[in-house]
Order: sequence, then C-alpha cells, then structure tokens
Amino acid sequence: MKLPIRFGRLLGMLRLWTIASVLLFSVPLANAVVIVAPTETVSEAVIDQRLRVEGSSYSYFTLALKAGAQVRIQIQVAGGLDSTIQTWLVDLNNFQLLKAGQEFNTWEGASPQIRQQGSYIFNAPATSIYYLVLDNRSNLFGRDMTVRAERSVTAPNSRGALFRSVYEGRYEALKQAFIFPDFDIHVQSCGQSNAFSNPNITMCTELFDDVQRKGVPAAELFIFYHEVGHSLLNLWHYPGYDNEDTADEFATAVLMMMDQQDVVLQAAQWWAANDSHAESGVKLLVDDRHSISIQRARNMLNWLGREDEIASRWMSILIPNLTDAVLEDIATGESENPEQARLVRSAGNELRQRRQPHAQ
Ligand SMILES: [Zn+2]
Repeated sequence: MKLPIRFGRLLGMLRLWTIASVLLFSVPLANAVVIVAPTETVSEAVIDQRLRVEGSSYSYFTLALKAGAQVRIQIQVAGGLDSTIQTWLVDLNNFQLLKAGQEFNTWEGASPQIRQQGSYIFNAPATSIYYLVLDNRSNLFGRDMTVRAERSVTAPNSRGALFRSVYEGRYEALKQAFIFPDFDIHVQSCGQSNAFSNPNITMCTELFDDVQRKGVPAAELFIFYHEVGHSLLNLWHYPGYDNEDTADEFATAVLMMMDQQDVVLQAAQWWAANDSHAESGVKLLVDDRHSISIQRARNMLNWLGREDEIASRWMSILIPNLTDAVLEDIATGESENPEQARLVRSAGNELRQRRQPHAQ
C-alpha cells in the first residue's frame, strides 16, 4: 500500500496473520474459542475419468462399498442436442436385469438424469458391489463425460493442532487491531469446500484440501477474511454485513493494507478457474447468494487496480473500530496527500473523542 502515513503497527500486526509466523503469538485467547473437530471426513476419489458413451449404448463403473459408506458422484456431460445423460445406480442383481433389458429397481435419488452437470450423494445401504450406469441407449448421439466419485472416510483430524494454532494466531492479531465482541472459530468437515459466518466462523477442512489441490493455498486466507468481514460488520451493526460482494471487498481491502495482494490474486485465480457457465445453471436451482465465480474474480481484480481508493474508503469505516494502539500509530503519521491527511486527522479525532470525559 502506498500510504506513507504510519500504518506501521497495523501492518506489522496484520502481517503476522500468516501461517508461518503464528508461533510468534503466545498470548492466550481472551474469550473466544477455536474449536477443531476431533475427526474429519476426508474424501478419496474412487472414480475420476473422462469417457465417451456412444449413442444407443451404455457404459458403467463398479463401486465396492461397505454398508454406510458415502459416495459423492459428480458428472459433467456434453453432446447431443441437450447434453443429458440418464444415470442408474444399481446393485448386482438389478444390473443383470438392466443389461437384459428387463425391469429393475434403484434407490430414490440415486439415479438422476443429468443435464450438463450434476452431483448427488449415495449412501450404500449394504456392503456390496454397486454399478454406476451411464445410459445413452435412448439417444442417437454420443455423450462426452467426466465422472468423478469420491468416497468419504472419517479419520482423526491429524492437522488439529496446526489448525488451532493458525486460527488462534489470526484471531489474536484481529483483537490487537480491532475492537469487537468475541466470536468463536470452528474448524470441521462440512461435506463441501466452503466457510460460514453467523457471526461465529466455520472453516471447512474440505476447503484446505481444495485450495491445495488447485495450487492456490493462499485463497484460504482470503476466504477467512471474507468470513471475518461478515462477522465484524455484523458485530459492528453495519448494514450489508451479509452481502457477499461487501465481504469480498472487505477481505481485498484488508489484504491490500497488509501488502498481501498475492493472496487476493490467488483467490481470484481460484474463482476464475471455476466453470461459471455450468455454475450459472446450478445457481438457478440452488439458493446461493454469492455472485458467480468469474464475476467475483473480476471484482477482485478491479479493486486491486483501485488500491488507494478502496483502502482509504475502508479505512474510514474501520477507524471507529480500531484499537487505541493502532489509532495512535496512524494519528502520528503525516501525509501531503489530502485523502491520507484526512485519515490521519480522523484517527486523531477518534482518539480524542475516546479520551474525553463523558458528560453525565
Ligand atoms: Zn460470504
């Protein structure tokens, strides 16, 4: 950030918000709790394939599953006029019937017709061999597909201590920079790569794996600040705290003040890589308040290009909520830039107001 005024203390503190420097914090948490679930559900791919199913034919995968095993099946399909495929999930006996062209049974919800892209979860009712059938028999044209099935496995959370120290460190840094009522941070499996704020924050362990796999690990830090944005704006009673674009802008502004533009870029890269065409189709079915990914990436790049404007706009909002220590640092700054000089004065005014004896 190009502000020459002394954001030194704020910057110094916020820089410590990264995983590498967490160990510098030994201060115990005041009133908040970081709760890491003792077990986590990790998923392993049991099918991950591209294939083509010609017209008037079918193809299938076998799945060996124990009773109670959970499999998430994701299918993308293109081809023909409508990019649709009929799927069937059946057991051995019913697969024989299906092959013979006879009537067969499946489970409710386990055999959807997929158009362009779809996913569903199957819970194996018994230990058995199951067949995932891609049935293109009623179509003339071939279909190109990507099929992925992930089996969920519950295991002790081996990363528990790391998660706890990372979030305790970040929370403590937040407390040193901002004034706010305490909230808790939960780290757990959610069955999806996501995070939530209510205003307690939930970070899903699936998210860590997802950003690692996609080569943009820093995107997790962006998402954490996105949730922090929801939580703090909520706790400060600001309108629009639940607006997704506002939370993205908060995260971008705070990260820019910390000179962490790379983190914003990685997050933008992560969202830009998501398939926004398929996503906009899904958005009609699922109530999701987030802008589609490509739009979020575009917003973030746009804000990065207006760094000074965005930073000073957010600084105006943050000043009443900064700790005395940070305000003192800002208030002793000097700048020839009128906007920055205004922020310096504003920090000084806030401090004076806090120190004035209140009339009874
Ligand atoms: Zn959000």
